[in-house]
Amino acid sequence: PPDSKDNYLQGLKYFWETGTETALGKTVEMTVLKKKGIEFDIELSLSAVKIEKELNTIAIIRDITERKHAEQALQESEERYRSLQENIPLGIYRITRQGKFISANHSMVRILNYNSRDELLKPSRIQLYAFKDQQEIFFQEIESNSFVSNYEIQLLKKNGDIFWAEINARAIRDELGNIIYYDGILEDITLQKQAKEELRQSKERLDIILQNIGNGVMVLDSSQNVFITNSRTKELLGFDPNQKITPVLSAMLINCHNQGKPLLEAFNKKSFSNLELNVEFPLPRTLYVTGTTFTDVDGKSAGKIFILADVTKEKDIERLKTDFVSSVSHELRTPITSIMGFAQTMLRNKEINNDIREEFLGIIHRESKRLSNLIEDVLSISRIESGKIHYDMSEISLGPIIQEVFNIYKIQAEKKNLRISCNVEKNLPKINADKDAVHQIIVNFIGNAIKFTESGDSVTISLKKIDDWLCLEVSDTGLGIPKKDQARIFDKFYRVSRPGTEIPGTGLGLSIVKEIVELHGGKIEMESEEGKGTTFRTFFPLSKKTLQKTG
Ligand code: ADP
Repeated sequence: PPDSKDNYLQGLKYFWETGTETALGKTVEMTVLKKKGIEFDIELSLSAVKIEKELNTIAIIRDITERKHAEQALQESEERYRSLQENIPLGIYRITRQGKFISANHSMVRILNYNSRDELLKPSRIQLYAFKDQQEIFFQEIESNSFVSNYEIQLLKKNGDIFWAEINARAIRDELGNIIYYDGILEDITLQKQAKEELRQSKERLDIILQNIGNGVMVLDSSQNVFITNSRTKELLGFDPNQKITPVLSAMLINCHNQGKPLLEAFNKKSFSNLELNVEFPLPRTLYVTGTTFTDVDGKSAGKIFILADVTKEKDIERLKTDFVSSVSHELRTPITSIMGFAQTMLRNKEINNDIREEFLGIIHRESKRLSNLIEDVLSISRIESGKIHYDMSEISLGPIIQEVFNIYKIQAEKKNLRISCNVEKNLPKINADKDAVHQIIVNFIGNAIKFTESGDSVTISLKKIDDWLCLEVSDTGLGIPKKDQARIFDKFYRVSRPGTEIPGTGLGLSIVKEIVELHGGKIEMESEEGKGTTFRTFFPLSKKTLQKTG
């Protein structure tokens, strides 16, 4: 029994006051206090019965606290749901197949830019879809599946503005299966779309920069996983740009000398620059790697950025220059030693006979010539490089110059037991060129052909007209040039390494020749096969005068 007599009695009082007859069979709910002050609800039902002519009251008391709580919770949850539905930033609606809104929450009204719910619900039809073709595809999908989820479509606001919406909707059908309504939840995703688009564009821009930059770029997390890279990186590290590589630093360095150990060891340094990385496969390359640490928003170290620069060419030039200095010194020393030796012998030995004197003087003369040629080459290259070269251009015939050089080299070739021949077409037109420069070109090609052939080989020289060009062809059946060297043969100081055969030279001849030919508007072609021989074709443009004459 309740311990609050007050409440209990109040209930009873009600019954008595409203009259026993009317109170009969009635129930009243009331809150009473339990022990220790905790409230609970009871339901009190009273009935009146006559026992021996006296009216007696039977009271039944039921604890309804739990039921009360449940009822209250339900009511609160309904209210919460209603308020949520109204205030959620998603449009919630029901629309007929014909486009009449049956219901819409507050957000739906706001998203579509209507002033009030009435204004949206009143019209018998609203044009909601911005584009007919989009609308048709949308309806096909919802009608065949009975629902759409996360469907992106462009809709119209009241003022005609188009916006992007993401819709989750369901078709509601009658008993016959005909669609009567669509229930949907809609979100205005215009801003998200814009942000996504901006992000996409900025990613695309970044990607374009990354892919077109001349250097390799790698962005790594602190566990050495590579999460951004460009195709240049793959190329520099010896991979095919389309090849899939496990994006881990160690996997990307497998083509490097020592598997890229120096770079792996430097990984934890805060920054470093010009760390040398030598790629060995498939082509040897020297890379300089510069590394920096980047931090995340909290200022904690988040990862590394590596920039890879290809310095193979610079390194090669450095090496070639060193080689050049040593080969020039060597080339200078040999003739000087013999000039000095023979001159000294003649000075000491006054009684030397005329024949020997003649022979010694011949050697001194030949060696001085060799010296002078070498110095001339070095000077030529420096004049060409500094742009100080001046050509004395005039209308000249190539044939006689070729013949002149041929006559000089013929003796040398025959001494070496080579077969040498020269075939210059008759009545060839003139070209506009510097006579000395052209002489130098011819000397170089014929000189090389004789130098890089062996006893029994042949050298063939020809000059003919091909279209608007005069073509000088110097062909030999000599040593040939290995495939791997062919592309670099015209580089300054470049010499094919031929172990076991000491052939003198500086590696300057062809680079000088190429510069001169190009300054004359001409071009050079080369064909060569190792062990079979080499052909150089030099094309000189016919002079304008000649071309005018021939029309
Ligand atoms: P050099 O003759 O002083 O070495 P060049 O610039 O004239 O320098 O030639 C460069 C290299 O090209 C030579 O070292 C040689 O290996 C190669 N070369 C040039 N001409 C020929 C040829 N006719 N046959 C084979 N190799 C040649």
